[in-house]
Amino acid sequence: MSQTKCNFCGSDRFEIRRTEYLYTHKGNYLLVPNTPVEVCLNCGMVYYDVSVLKKIKERFFAIHNKTEKPDRYIEMPSKAFS
Ligand SMILES: [Zn+2]
Repeated sequence: MSQTKCNFCGSDRFEIRRTEYLYTHKGNYLLVPNTPVEVCLNCGMVYYDVSVLKKIKERFFAIHNKTEKPDRYIEMPSKAFS
């Protein structure tokens, strides 16, 4: 986490929260629960950590290249309805 100033409103008041992050790529989705984000307390702008996004992306491609099982990650919609 490195956000010190909001790019949108200039506020320096941030809170770390956990949220569900939906990664999309070419019509495929990966929903990642408990993704840490920084939220601007002034305007509500949400900032994602670059290293966190990188891990999600690596995970996504590992799953879709069949080198890794989704385990607690949820794939949708292909797996949910098959
Ligand atoms: Zn802000």
